[in-house]
Amino acid sequence: MPSVTVRAPAKVNVRLAVGPLRPDGYHDLVNVFLAVALQDRVTATPAGALRVTCAGPGAGQVPLDAGNLAARAAAALAARLGRAPDVHLHIDKDIPVAGGMAGGSADAAAALLACDALWGAGTPRETLHELAAGLGSDVPFALAGGAALGRGRGELLTPLPVEGTFHWVFALAEGGLSTPAVYRECDRLRAEDPAGADVPPPQGDPALEAALAAGDPHALAARLVNDLQPAALSLRPALADTLRAGADAGALAGLVSGSGPTCAFLAADADGAAALAKSLNDSGTCRQARATTAPAPGATTIDFHA
Ligand code: ATP
Repeated sequence: MPSVTVRAPAKVNVRLAVGPLRPDGYHDLVNVFLAVALQDRVTATPAGALRVTCAGPGAGQVPLDAGNLAARAAAALAARLGRAPDVHLHIDKDIPVAGGMAGGSADAAAALLACDALWGAGTPRETLHELAAGLGSDVPFALAGGAALGRGRGELLTPLPVEGTFHWVFALAEGGLSTPAVYRECDRLRAEDPAGADVPPPQGDPALEAALAAGDPHALAARLVNDLQPAALSLRPALADTLRAGADAGALAGLVSGSGPTCAFLAADADGAAALAKSLNDSGTCRQARATTAPAPGATTIDFHA
């Protein structure tokens, strides 16, 4: 039976600047995405009808119906190609579910590539990118990988140069946080704070981009920003203990990853990351701490049987 397996990366936002609430309910963002080597794998095989299965940590929380982002990706590509989405997608999950690391978006990007190869469609890269943007603001970056500056709702992507390898530790939490709930909490906290009422438009940070381009973890640590962090901490106060445990264990810097509840810590090198992961695992302030590296490539075909 023909099958195609594609791997796609999680992301950490090394800068997430959130503008004021727009009349349409969204926020303008300036996002600097960095793809990390925690990856899901999606295998596509022919089937009578669109079907999704999932295995791995947190698989029980992943919807297996048409709402699964990988299924939506297959359906969107099939509609564009004018064919039936007659495919079985099996997701091997390694990215924490609802962890602020865009695991669902990674699966959607992987499904786009896997179905395109299985169906022999040869869809142009720009079309895949356009379909990805229609599926969610983090999906184009999961296709692209590396590092990128995202504007608007995150879908206008400019690749950024990165030198060398950055060493990260991710502290995974019990349970997830809903991204819309975290944005709502961010708006609520800003409305309550007299100094926060006048939110400026989100800006980029040339010093952060220079740190990525130089491969300098100390300079990068000094520039990490997540405007959603106060809201994630407000909804999940225990994350402050996780951030403190990482700081006490010698992280160069730590922050909530995206909308959380995963916390991300930057280490100086691989040994530093291994020691930090051990301290965090021993601290009892997270479900599991995992050391990994960045940047990781975007969605990549790793197995193809014609
Ligand atoms: P977001 O991209 O909204 O910031 P996240 O990165 O925190 O989310 P995801 O793992 O992408 O977290 O999942 C968010 C929600 O999307 C899950 O709670 C789940 O209900 C739904 N979902 C749909 N498809 C998938 C998928 N393939 N993998 C994981 N979750 C999925």
